Amino acid sequence: RIAYVNGRFLPQREATVHIEDRGYQLADAVYEVWALFDGKLTDAEGHFTRLERSLSELRIPMPMSRRALTLVLREAVRRNRIRDGLVYLQVSRGVAPRDHAFPTQPVAPAMVITVSAVDRVAAEIRAAKGIGVITTPENRWGRCDIKTVGLLPNALAKQKAREAGATEAWFVDELGFVTEGASSNAWIVDGEGRLRTRDANANILRGITRHTLLDVIAQAGLEVDERPFTPDEAVAAQEAFITGAGTLVLPVIAVDGRPVGKGAPGPVAARLRRLYIERARATAI
Ligand code: PMP
Repeated sequence: RIAYVNGRFLPQREATVHIEDRGYQLADAVYEVWALFDGKLTDAEGHFTRLERSLSELRIPMPMSRRALTLVLREAVRRNRIRDGLVYLQVSRGVAPRDHAFPTQPVAPAMVITVSAVDRVAAEIRAAKGIGVITTPENRWGRCDIKTVGLLPNALAKQKAREAGATEAWFVDELGFVTEGASSNAWIVDGEGRLRTRDANANILRGITRHTLLDVIAQAGLEVDERPFTPDEAVAAQEAFITGAGTLVLPVIAVDGRPVGKGAPGPVAARLRRLYIERARATAI
């Protein structure tokens, strides 16, 4: 595996960052993840736009233009000879003596890229089986719309899911509604067959897969209600699923061990997964 670190490509095991990198010490960094189909970046523009927004919310300058970044991302993919996988990009404010406030002297942002392979056959087998999720109280900060590397609550939630024999954790707010998954957005197909997902103005990450899927859904002539749902509503629903660059559209068949609908992946999620992948392949750059 070849990594990119601050202008250089090198074997990943030799790739290092400075111990006073603010991403390492303070989670003062943002990231993006693109799915790769046939070596191409999926939903490229959406992820670039969100990256720029995350950076601007933290007042970190964009380390290079979109055009240049596209070339570097492609070069990272090429050097790893990966066709299907994920590209991870992280940008931190940079290296400075430890102090919570921003460095007084301007520092260059630090940028890291890694590429990993995904077995698309195994992913389809997993999608055909579906996954279980658990629920856990929402305990993240008020700016979940910024894609920062401050992922400790997400990591703890995911570990809780794993220990319960589940794959994903859904955060539940104080009103009893699901906000989103630890690394995905959450959806149901309600009793009337209407799609439902929490609206993106709430304190959630505005998933790029979610955004593209809304378009796919509109084109397929299906209806969506951008409204939150409870875990009980998910259990009573016909279907549930999650979306994200890593999971695409993945059926959820149980919530806290309670079967969703018939307890098996349903036709709507299967169709949307197929349509999303078709769109991704057709638009990847
Ligand atoms: N919510 C959270 C908390 C996430 O970490 C992710 C994955 N990065 C998502 C939603 C899905 O976002 P996307 O579709 O852009 O991958």
